[in-house]
Amino acid sequence: MLDTDFFRRWMAATAAAVDREADRLTELDAAIGDADHGSNMRRGFAAVSDVLEKEAPAAPGAVLTLAGRHLISTVGGASGPLYGTLLRRTGKALGDAPEVTSDQLAEALGAGVAAVAQLGGAQAGDKTMLDALLPAVEVLGGSFGEARDAALAGALATVPLLARKGRASYLGERSIGHQDPGAASAALLVGALAEAAGPNGGGGA
Ligand code: ADP
Ligand code: MG
Repeated sequence: MLDTDFFRRWMAATAAAVDREADRLTELDAAIGDADHGSNMRRGFAAVSDVLEKEAPAAPGAVLTLAGRHLISTVGGASGPLYGTLLRRTGKALGDAPEVTSDQLAEALGAGVAAVAQLGGAQAGDKTMLDALLPAVEVLGGSFGEARDAALAGALATVPLLARKGRASYLGERSIGHQDPGAASAALLVGALAEAAGPNGGGGA
């Protein structure tokens, strides 16, 4: 079972990964956007870490809804509302259960990803964060390690795609040949699940 502390570790591991990789995310965004994705994500997840320490929410769902709210209020740019919606909707789907199974998390994250697709109007293959999130959600009930690998493969597979949504879509054909920054950060978020679960925790709960 995944308890509240697991979800706090997930957010902390995401914040650490985003901080570590911020320069790479910004470089990816410099190629097909406006070079702010690393700083956006770093600012957002630093705020998430702060508020989770201060408020210590008492259930998995509450951790994610609080994190989502803070991403929306601290991240300017497209990714704030999109990641905020992802975490808020996932948290809402978890309800106030004190512990959840990895299948329940997979289902809730599926609802969160569907909300991102609805908000941004994007679908698979549009060269967005969805290209990492959708394949991860499909295998998440099985193992976090598999989900991490699927997200990473999905992010790398955005390189040859033409961007159809967001700022990168303004470039048209010139967006081809670059990895989508939001797909790269989504792979960090999914990879952080495996980190939060620990060395033997990748096999689901
Ligand atoms: P901005 O584009 O406003 O500068 P960021 O650079 O922080 O915001 O985030 C860019 C990322 O947001 C993109 O790489 C893409 O993955 C994601 N994104 C942008 N628009 C959409 C959308 N409509 N649907 C899903 N993801 C999107
Ligand atoms: Mg940007």
